[in-house]
Amino acid sequence: MPQQVRGVVARAKGAPVTLETIVVPDPGPGEAVVKVEACGVCHTDLHYREGGINDDFPFLLGHEAAGRVESIGEGVTGLQPGDFVVLNWRAVCGDCRACRRGRPWYCFDTFNATQPMTLEDGTKLSPALGIGAFADKTLVHAGQCTKVDPKADPAAAGLIGCGVMAGFGAAVNTAPVGKGDTVAVIGCGGVGSAAIAGALYAGARQVIAVDVDPRKLEWARGFGATDTVDAKKEDVVARLRELTGGFGPDVVIEAVGRPDTYRQAFDARDLAGTVVLVGVPNPTMTLELPLIEVFGRGGQLKSSWYGDCLPSRDFPLLVDLWQSGRLDLDAFVSERIGLGDVEEAFHKMERGEVLRSVVVL
Ligand SMILES: [Zn+2]
Ligand SMILES: [Zn+2]
Repeated sequence: MPQQVRGVVARAKGAPVTLETIVVPDPGPGEAVVKVEACGVCHTDLHYREGGINDDFPFLLGHEAAGRVESIGEGVTGLQPGDFVVLNWRAVCGDCRACRRGRPWYCFDTFNATQPMTLEDGTKLSPALGIGAFADKTLVHAGQCTKVDPKADPAAAGLIGCGVMAGFGAAVNTAPVGKGDTVAVIGCGGVGSAAIAGALYAGARQVIAVDVDPRKLEWARGFGATDTVDAKKEDVVARLRELTGGFGPDVVIEAVGRPDTYRQAFDARDLAGTVVLVGVPNPTMTLELPLIEVFGRGGQLKSSWYGDCLPSRDFPLLVDLWQSGRLDLDAFVSERIGLGDVEEAFHKMERGEVLRSVVVL
């Protein structure tokens, strides 16, 4: 029987989100219904509400979630009702040209549930990143459920499903940061802070945090940044060179997603250095670079999709690192809120007051 539950819906571009009754169907073949226990408020949810992703309103927001599998559809293996899972938004298909070449983290044909969740009147909802977890329950593809240690706190574990994985993976998988590298991270929200943690885990000898907000720089120090640059007061490129013996960092991770900060990353890195773009730009942004510099400075300009992660490989690893005290996931959880508080959480995020507000159910 389809179930009626509460869900946070963005009905129109820029309009405040509302708490609505939504209809979650029984899981069909390959699908699972998950009882959501916690879901973090991510910039991407706000992006959807602002119409910055696409125009497929109404959206069911929320995608950084952990919960328990309630029921599974036909043909689902490796997943049982009661399993504690972190939801992922790139369930790899195993069959596309990327997967077949042994690069499943690039999968070009990731899975989502095929049945729609709807409003009471039958209007189809577009779940954010194919998840839609600001809801008591959500319908996903079974491959979007990654089992992790059930002892983990759902509020912290859910964050692995998006921002933490994206940032950590940008450093560890995409760059990848090597032992003894110097690293700068531009933009120290949830993704940037996780990139700092990832760079340290990978063996960086120096990790420089760059942000316009002194509060975020303070948090970055808490995650282990060795130096900070206040981008409002200092020339970012000159300061990054100065802090790295005049050369620039080996790796610069851009966690903002803007042409001006990308240009800082491009200009600041050392010769043959690496730039990783993990911040998500909007569709109107363009970039102009001197081609002679692209050639002459060498190195690598990379983009990081979801931290180039494999959820089945990386989520349990991050939970282990957290439980052994090597990754402070709890520090990402700024506050615990209810389903009705998401709109206010967007405002707190815009004002830079929180790293993550987490809806706890
Ligand atoms: Zn694939
Ligand atoms: Zn996210």
